[in-house]
Amino acid sequence: MYDVAVIGAGVIGGMIARELAAYELNVCLLEAENDVGRGSSSANSAIVHAGFDAKPGSLKARFNVEGSRMMEEVCRDLGVKYQRNGSMVVAFSDDDRKMVEELLERGRQNGVEGLYIAESEELHRLEPNLSQDAVCALIAPTGAIVCPYELTISAVGNAMDNGVKLQLNYRVTGIVFDGEGDNGRGCFIIASSAGSTVKARYVINAAGLYSDSVAAMAGDDSFRIRPRRGEYLVLDKGAGTLCSHTIFRTPTKMGKGILITPTVDGNVLLGPTSEDIDDKRDTSVTQEGIDRIISQMKQEMPAVNIGSVVTLFCGLRAVGNTGDFIINSPRPRFINVAAIESPGLTSSPAIGQYVKNLLLEKLAMDGIVPRRKKRHIRTRPSLHWFQILTKEQKNLVIADDPSFGHIICRCEGITEGEIKYAAAQNPRPSDLDGVKRRTRAQMGRCQGGFCAPFIVRILSDELEVPFESITKNGNGSYINIGRTKEITD
Ligand SMILES: Cc1cc2nc3c(=O)[nH]c(=O)nc-3n(C[C@H](O)[C@H](O)[C@H](O)COP(=O)(O)OP(=O)(O)OC[C@H]3O[C@@H](n4cnc5c(N)ncnc54)[C@H](O)[C@@H]3O)c2cc1C
Repeated sequence: MYDVAVIGAGVIGGMIARELAAYELNVCLLEAENDVGRGSSSANSAIVHAGFDAKPGSLKARFNVEGSRMMEEVCRDLGVKYQRNGSMVVAFSDDDRKMVEELLERGRQNGVEGLYIAESEELHRLEPNLSQDAVCALIAPTGAIVCPYELTISAVGNAMDNGVKLQLNYRVTGIVFDGEGDNGRGCFIIASSAGSTVKARYVINAAGLYSDSVAAMAGDDSFRIRPRRGEYLVLDKGAGTLCSHTIFRTPTKMGKGILITPTVDGNVLLGPTSEDIDDKRDTSVTQEGIDRIISQMKQEMPAVNIGSVVTLFCGLRAVGNTGDFIINSPRPRFINVAAIESPGLTSSPAIGQYVKNLLLEKLAMDGIVPRRKKRHIRTRPSLHWFQILTKEQKNLVIADDPSFGHIICRCEGITEGEIKYAAAQNPRPSDLDGVKRRTRAQMGRCQGGFCAPFIVRILSDELEVPFESITKNGNGSYINIGRTKEITD
């Protein structure tokens, strides 16, 4: 019997679990996929939004600004890459200028610090590659960038280091309240597609795109989630000097528009498109989407070299029908944390804290006051600790463990030792993409063309599973179908 079951191991479920892990509570995190952060939390713009875009008074505005203030410290604690590069919303016309002025006012109402409008000369000094047609821009010095999958993995990992149980491949298909359960105190019975069940006294629904279905399982039909597709192009690391700020166009009713931004790893991201669709599994990248991004970029930043694209991807925003985040408790002991579209990544630390407090209030009303754990680990080393060592320090590590001297991913310079280290940390990866998100091996120009076979071998050794069972990203995406030779000494 768990005290709390959190459904969904994206950045929101991860941050909530991390907060709850500081208390003497028995918590489980139930995730449908074979790894954490496989939903929106891995496929987004990776921006820590300053908070000028959300409507004043909304939950989005509140948690955006709070989350943006918390993010740097959270990333430091979790060993996650974060960079305060500042963001700007560029105006190309008089109408755009009016919108920029509106955003400045909205940002001030939301409590965003340091906002101002830069005119053309300053703007082009800040971003020399920007089109000469740009007339002015709203500058937000508190805007930042972060690694979103690392943030999710590390939040869940930290929760697990503090005792939270993660159950992967646990797709919740039914939730029933058993009034007689838990010695007559009542508990939820949470069933999975595999036929197993978990019992919990309290349930937190953080199931992203599927949070409406999960709420419906518990009898709450009050909201709907629709997917909104966002496609991206990723430029190679050589393009990293193209811009230093995150550069937005003025927003539309479909969102913040197509942006160009450096990433914390030195790539450049172009996108996202914005298109309402019906299929919650459709993460395909379309030709129309690519063309739209390229055509906008040619106007905005003519120096962009599309030849340096290394990969494409698509993320789905979980757009609710209320226009705001939905955080409520439609029935006792059940909390929805739904419709967490952008700026959900930015808001995640603040939402984690808020939902923890909400749960503590519910527990208190039921006469339960959990103590804070005496032995609680707040921090965790970066998965990239080896990369940031000096040459001398690296040589010492290699002398102790020669696998750190064996380069596996040539594009990103990632060693066998780093892959083995990542494979041993909570939560452990189970496939090639899991290793990619944790180490960056396969993220470079060749996208795993050279290193994937070696990573399969390392992962099968580390997980002690057959070589043939390793997939690219679960769901039967096998890489090897069998052995053609017997290995002998
Ligand atoms: C294109 C795009 C761009 C964005 N850009 C930004 C940005 O720059 N900055 C920003 O702040 N925000 C951004 N966002 C928003 C941000 O990515 C999301 O708000 C955030 O990732 C939501 O996290 P989540 O945990 O709620 O959802 P998810 O990451 O989707 O996690 C939900 C989890 O629940 C699991 N799940 C679903 N159903 C079940 C079930 N039945 N049983 C068990 N598990 C289940 C899923 O597998 C998934 O892992 C963007 C989003 C998109 C799509």
